[in-house]
Amino acid sequence: MADRFRNIARRLDRGLLPWMGPAQVGAGHPEEPYQRPVDAACPICHRPMADHVVERSADPARATRLICPA
Ligand SMILES: [Zn+2]
Repeated sequence: MADRFRNIARRLDRGLLPWMGPAQVGAGHPEEPYQRPVDAACPICHRPMADHVVERSADPARATRLICPA
């Protein structure tokens, strides 16, 4: 079943690529390499990210969790 959908997707990609072109990535102008901010703030609590804990699991079914300081 999964192979059937994969084959359909591949055929669609091959058929549409000449008209639609490859995926458009980027901002449409030359960009500088991304530089990580020195004092990044958490988007949730606005405290420094260095004070946070990121829980990652080897199990791919388990989501990564960001734990904000209390
Ligand atoms: Zn936070």
